[in-house]
Amino acid sequence: MNIILFGPPGAGKGTQAEKLVSHFNIPHLSTGNIFRANIKQQTPLGKIVKAILDDGKLVPDETVVEIVADELKKNEYHEGVVLDGFPRTVKQAESLDQFFSGNGRGIDAFVTLTVPEEELINRILNRGQGRSDDTPEKIKTRLQVYHDETEPVLNHYKKQDLVKEIDGVGSVDEIFSRILEALD
Ligand code: ADP
Repeated sequence: MNIILFGPPGAGKGTQAEKLVSHFNIPHLSTGNIFRANIKQQTPLGKIVKAILDDGKLVPDETVVEIVADELKKNEYHEGVVLDGFPRTVKQAESLDQFFSGNGRGIDAFVTLTVPEEELINRILNRGQGRSDDTPEKIKTRLQVYHDETEPVLNHYKKQDLVKEIDGVGSVDEIFSRILEALD
């Protein structure tokens, strides 16, 4: 089962991804986590993307697509994956579709979490993970980037009739139940 978890920064993608991972026993692939791990370990990739993440901008499509394709080729992802933070542009979505169709695989569901903007900002400011992009100014940039570059991905998958819109306000378990119901 291949599931995409989608939504603006602070919508709870990472939290719900972890719950899907344990429920369905499929691996989690978070591009944000990959970038942060590379920055922490000061790898060549980490050095390239650090300033971009710090600014709240997007890593170039070619870079992200290559990383995700390399990951998805690994055996551990062949039975399924929970994608979190990818695709984030229509170009990335088109590349993913191509990759999957070229491998006889496909997307089973595109789950989008809906949360009012005010709550998103409060959640990010209160999550206290010490992320360098969790400042009011950077959150504003990230939300703008989301609206401009990422939201069109929703329409891309609406055309394929894959979108499940989930109310992302409530307790973690409530939201997870809504997701399971929608996947049923
Ligand atoms: P959030 O959803 O809270 O913004 P993520 O961990 O998904 O957090 O992403 C953090 C940052 O990593 C993004 O602001 C962006 O700089 C970079 N990033 C993650 N995924 C992608 C992607 N698919 N394309 C481009 N940049 C990405």
